[in-house]
Amino acid sequence: FDELDSAERYVGGSWEDVRALFGGKGANLAEMVRIGVPVPPGFIVTTEACNVYLEAGGIFPEGMWDQVLQALHTIEADTGKTFGDPRQPLLVSCRSGAKFSMPGMMDTVLNIGLNDLTAQAMVNLTGDERFVFDAYRRLIQMFGSVVMGVADEVFEHVLTAARQKAGVTVESDLQAADWKEVTDRFKNVFRNHTQIDFPQDPLEQLRMATEAVFKSWNGKRAVDYRNAANIPHDLGTAVNIVTMVFGNMGNDCATGVAMTRNGSTGEPGLEGDFLINAQGEDVVAGIRMTEDITTMAASFPEAYEELCSIANKLELHYRDMQDMEFTIEKGKLWMLQTRDGKRTARAAVRIAVDMTREGLISMDQAVLRISPEQIDFFLHPQFDPAAIADARSHGRMVARGLNVSPGAAGGLVVFEADLAETWTKRDGKKVILVRPETKPDDVHGLLAAQGVLTSRGGRTSHAALVARQFGKPAVVGVAALEIDLSKREMRCGETLIREGDVISIDGNTGEVFLGELPTMLPDIKDPWLIDLLSWADEYRTLGVWANADYPEDARRARSYGAQGIGLCRSEHMFFETDRLPLFQKMIMARLPVDQREALDALLPFQRDDFAGLFREMDGMPVIIRLIDPPLHEFLPDLVELMGQLSDLKLRIRDAGTLPDIDALLEEIRIKERLREQAEKLKEQNPMLGMRGVRLGIHIPDLTKMQVRAIFEAACLVTREGVTVLPKIMIPLVGHANELKVQREALEAEAQAVMAEQNLKIDYKFGTMIELPRAALTADQIAEYAEFFSYGTNDLTQTTYGISRDDAESGFLIEYVGKGILPENPFATLDEDGVVQLMKIGVDKGRSVRPDLECGICGEHGGDPRSIALCHSLGLTYVSCSPFRVPIARLAAAHAAL
Ligand code: PEP
Ligand code: MG
Repeated sequence: FDELDSAERYVGGSWEDVRALFGGKGANLAEMVRIGVPVPPGFIVTTEACNVYLEAGGIFPEGMWDQVLQALHTIEADTGKTFGDPRQPLLVSCRSGAKFSMPGMMDTVLNIGLNDLTAQAMVNLTGDERFVFDAYRRLIQMFGSVVMGVADEVFEHVLTAARQKAGVTVESDLQAADWKEVTDRFKNVFRNHTQIDFPQDPLEQLRMATEAVFKSWNGKRAVDYRNAANIPHDLGTAVNIVTMVFGNMGNDCATGVAMTRNGSTGEPGLEGDFLINAQGEDVVAGIRMTEDITTMAASFPEAYEELCSIANKLELHYRDMQDMEFTIEKGKLWMLQTRDGKRTARAAVRIAVDMTREGLISMDQAVLRISPEQIDFFLHPQFDPAAIADARSHGRMVARGLNVSPGAAGGLVVFEADLAETWTKRDGKKVILVRPETKPDDVHGLLAAQGVLTSRGGRTSHAALVARQFGKPAVVGVAALEIDLSKREMRCGETLIREGDVISIDGNTGEVFLGELPTMLPDIKDPWLIDLLSWADEYRTLGVWANADYPEDARRARSYGAQGIGLCRSEHMFFETDRLPLFQKMIMARLPVDQREALDALLPFQRDDFAGLFREMDGMPVIIRLIDPPLHEFLPDLVELMGQLSDLKLRIRDAGTLPDIDALLEEIRIKERLREQAEKLKEQNPMLGMRGVRLGIHIPDLTKMQVRAIFEAACLVTREGVTVLPKIMIPLVGHANELKVQREALEAEAQAVMAEQNLKIDYKFGTMIELPRAALTADQIAEYAEFFSYGTNDLTQTTYGISRDDAESGFLIEYVGKGILPENPFATLDEDGVVQLMKIGVDKGRSVRPDLECGICGEHGGDPRSIALCHSLGLTYVSCSPFRVPIARLAAAHAAL
């Protein structure tokens, strides 16, 4: 590769194609060679070969093995060593590498080429018997477990026995003779479990290892991971066969992993772990306590400096944060891998913004690098600081480890991945997976759990990487935890925690607490996020408004960047305890005068509500949607009422005094009246019944009261100096005449209030488009509507004829599961149906009123894919819940870029 000017040209495609063919690891190794980074000589067996092998049921494609042998000769020539030759034995590693990184999910075999003969030869060459037999036993162990499927524990038992016999606690204290003995024992274990001798022929070793890597593509943990990460199953893995370099040949050797920036926070500077006199797997597996990479500056100053400069070179080349693996053999630095580093959402945002400022990427690239879903992280619950302080001061903070993946999580302690999955999926419990360290086999448990806690491992341990990738809070390396898997308990000093006990972990601070701590929603104050979102604002053409009913929601929405209120569901206020009785009184009134009285009593409440909203949204539009739901929703449930009535009647029998009886009779009279009314209002299809504009026409005084409240509030706050832009929205219109009639009545009320108050308010009347007929006749409707807002919850319900209230817990799930529907149409807009109606509505509406403002206020307004569709439709804005406003800002920018 060092002779190539471009890997793309070699493959005849894009960098994507290069990665698809060579796998990510191979493509990057080749690229490092090409730009002059020191990489041990090696070659790649492509994913194409893997796919042919797997399709053929386990037969190498024709000619492949000859090519492998040829490539091996090239390496031999490069290194001056020969595979299997005792004079200068060449050892290689055989590693998987798919197009998308799947850390630790597939297999690796190191030290291939060692056998009894070459091992002895290497002892003679290096004079280091300890190192050679450590390497040899590792080959047998990895070969045994990866290629032949021998359980890890079998080898672990031998190691434990060896440590005990030698009277040492760590493997690195074992001596040459110990390793020689372990090697012999491993060979026995191998023979006993596989019925064959450990293969002495290096080419046989290489062939079997290559096959094992191919097959590991379809291993359970790889399949689980791909399912979780949405990686297609037909890509296959490449096999990287690379000359071994050793980090365990003495104290002038080391191995480590490093990220070019901090993967949790995004801070600049190397972050990572390394181990002196160790092999790579020791670091990643989190088995030995690692050292912080920065201490390498003291122990290996030259290699450290070179690593820093390689980090810069790689960032400049890839224009992204890199995650590197390296080994130092006798003082010489070798790079074994680089890839785009996994990072938390927080780090991703900071890195994108910093890299823009450093001139590595452009502003639009930064905006595109962050997915709208990542923004969601910033809105994840965090522990309430007061509860943290309280827990700390009451001794409930039991340990502290590394804060490797932020967020707050609480749940039942579970010590095993399968159980974590069962308790979560079957029993609906929240769990925290607790392990000494996690391995790729534990991924399903980690995904099921709320968070993960380990007693060993560093910032780049498996648990940390995977948790970060999937946005799970994680605390690792909690040395104070003594986990006893066999007893299913752990000790932390004096405290004993058993499986099923509740703990909380704080991925921001690394703290572990007893019990479940309450969480709270954060504010987005991250300065990098604020910058990124403001850049997104420069690209987007869609406005982002919020659905908010109360001043507090409006405040939050505004602080998140909302440019208006797209939907205030005015009826929500009627449900509050001090208003519901008044509203019920209005519903029950037999005489107009009683109804009037109830409405008059409600007016000040509504006025105050609206005034509060207007104040918060000073200078921005506020759309108030007039009452929409059917009236029975404001009355108690009929069945419940019947139950209460028979109860009351029984109590009369037992009542002692006359006043008691009178009181009960009065209560019965009220409840009877409620029941009567509830029965009268009962409809077979209430969602298609007396609701929306129909209700407004049926009880004109109700919507008039609402309009009066809006205009009185508008006048009130105008006098306070607030700029108010009210928009009155009429729901569920199906025919232009409904809007005409209702608007005329309401306009008159608006004019009356403004005349009384002697003030002119800048207002608009508009409608929701949430019935197919409204969309189809939008030109007629636009005669009377100054704006449209798509109520896509109802529009989806009525277009599909699927109940929005029931379907999502019923057949819809089955439909989506079986692939009958590509997705839940209540979550993402149905492009072929609902969106087509929306398009007709926009086109027809604007044919009458070219400047017609069209927005969306259904739940889809906060869904990134729906937002992209709204952008294509040329909508004016999307309106969504305050918490989705930042996500919508970014999604709208993505749609525009
Ligand atoms: C809608 O139907 O999409 C809408 C926003 O109104 P509601 O959900 O209140 O019916
Ligand atoms: Mg609706």
